[in-house]
Amino acid sequence: MNPESQPASAWDNPAPEAPARPRVNVAGLSKTQLVELLPGVPAYRAAQIFEGLYKHRWTTWDSFTSLSKALRERLQVEVELAWPEIVESVSSEDGSTKHAFRLADGKLVEGVHMPYAGRTTLCLSSQVGCAMGCTFCATGQMGIVRNLTAGEIVGQVVAMLNKHDHAEGLPVNLVFMGMGEPMHNLDHVMAACALLTDPAGQAIPPRRITMSTCGLVTGIEKLARFRKRPRLAISLNGTTDRYRSQIMPVNRVWNLLALSNALRAFPVEKGEHITLEYVLLKGITDSMDDARRLVAFARQFPSKINLIPFNAHEGSGFHEPAEDRIEEFCKFITGKGLTVSVRRSRGQDVAGACGQLVREGRKKT
Ligand code: SAH
Ligand code: SF4
Repeated sequence: MNPESQPASAWDNPAPEAPARPRVNVAGLSKTQLVELLPGVPAYRAAQIFEGLYKHRWTTWDSFTSLSKALRERLQVEVELAWPEIVESVSSEDGSTKHAFRLADGKLVEGVHMPYAGRTTLCLSSQVGCAMGCTFCATGQMGIVRNLTAGEIVGQVVAMLNKHDHAEGLPVNLVFMGMGEPMHNLDHVMAACALLTDPAGQAIPPRRITMSTCGLVTGIEKLARFRKRPRLAISLNGTTDRYRSQIMPVNRVWNLLALSNALRAFPVEKGEHITLEYVLLKGITDSMDDARRLVAFARQFPSKINLIPFNAHEGSGFHEPAEDRIEEFCKFITGKGLTVSVRRSRGQDVAGACGQLVREGRKKT
């Protein structure tokens, strides 16, 4: 049935005077939440609003021409439609662009748009700052400011795809490798994933989403229970408890054994892998003994290894290993029959690479 031919609801009447209560922002609401927010609006109308928000990525009520004019005017008055706004963009020589998003409370987070042949990858933030305090990471030095809401996470996707005139049908990969620890804000991250994977929205397949974590074991266990879940990447970055605890405080709570137990129990589908990200820090994590232990760790479950030569940032005190050491490390792993890649971080010249995403003043030490 043509929705337009259905009887008009109370919502199709002209807008009354503006209500006194604060306006709820619809950007980030689920279908159920939209129905709850808009009593009297028929379900098919809520579905049209959902599609407008998440499939068409509309940013103003004027774009929602499938709705009656009266309903649009009423929405304009009674609810807010506000996605995070891109306030600064810096493009790198390699084609990637780092964007700064301003959130409703004025806080800033960053995301990176990376075009590849046949797909676009978006690196997303999950928090303002991060509580995990990894010593090599610029975001970690900020401390935690707050969690992002589902709308603020989805909004980074909406804003970046709109900004880059994303071609319909071109696959999108999402990686939670920007600011923050996604497992420390799992409810909002999973709510965002539900919106992004919804067939009536961007319909991004869950296998195209990767959640990278420093190893919060309770979060990994919780993620394992979701039927539709993103792929898992673990920031390993250390092969002995002694060294890993020094650079990643999380290891003092869940050590390598606890982490590997959780990963062995994680349900991995056929053809799926758990990615082990391994930052190569000169003189700290780049010895050939590390390479050997990394291989042993990786053999415990279906995995592939992603080596990330350290991206320098001001005042970190760490260094990137020499090129021949990176090569030797990589060759050793390949020689053991494991899949390994070296992530030449994109956007390095604009500080958009891993661990360089930092927006606010550094935490005082
Ligand atoms: N908090 C999550 C996701 C964000 S960090 C996590 O830790 O996995 C994304 C990746 O960047 C992690 O693998 C992290 O180890 C890596 N990283 C952080 N700082 C880095 C730096 N300075 N150089 C290279 N990689 C870095
Ligand atoms: Fe947080 Fe990840 Fe940086 Fe560690 S590496 S401080 S978990 S963002």
